[in-house]
Order: sequence, then C-alpha cells, then structure tokens
Amino acid sequence: MQQLTIDPTFDIHDHRHGLKLLKDDRETMVLENRDDVFACPACGNAFDRLFVSEKRTQSFGNPNTPFCMVRTDTQLLVLTH
Ligand SMILES: [Zn+2]
Repeated sequence: MQQLTIDPTFDIHDHRHGLKLLKDDRETMVLENRDDVFACPACGNAFDRLFVSEKRTQSFGNPNTPFCMVRTDTQLLVLTH
C-alpha cells in the first residue's frame, strides 16, 4: 500500500489515482479508498473512507466503526476502517 502524503497538508491532487471523491464542499471532503490503494497514516492498515475538514469544529453522528484521526497544519483527517 502507498502512504498518504500529509506533510504539510493533504492534497487530493496528489492522490487522484487511488481516491474517489464522493462529496466535496468548500471546507470538507469525503473520499473513498478504492481497492485499498492507500494505508492509514495513523495505524498503517487500509482504510475505507477519508473525511477531510478545514473547519474549526466538526460533529459526527455515530460512526459505528473503528476510526483514526490525523491532523495537519490546517486540516483534520478522519479515516474509517
Ligand atoms: Zn487507521
């Protein structure tokens, strides 16, 4: 598996070949890890979805799945497994 580039920030354009953009608004994105191309930067395992937020706060419903969090200088990344 490949590593996500998150230093200094995550950029979708560096990951187009493996991530499918499911949802995009000004400050948040949801991406699908197609064919487990990328590994989670936190635990090293394949992840299912990647949520990227540049908002200062973020609320979630019940994720009902294990998840990892990664922060960059300007983003919060939540990866579900
Ligand atoms: Zn993880």
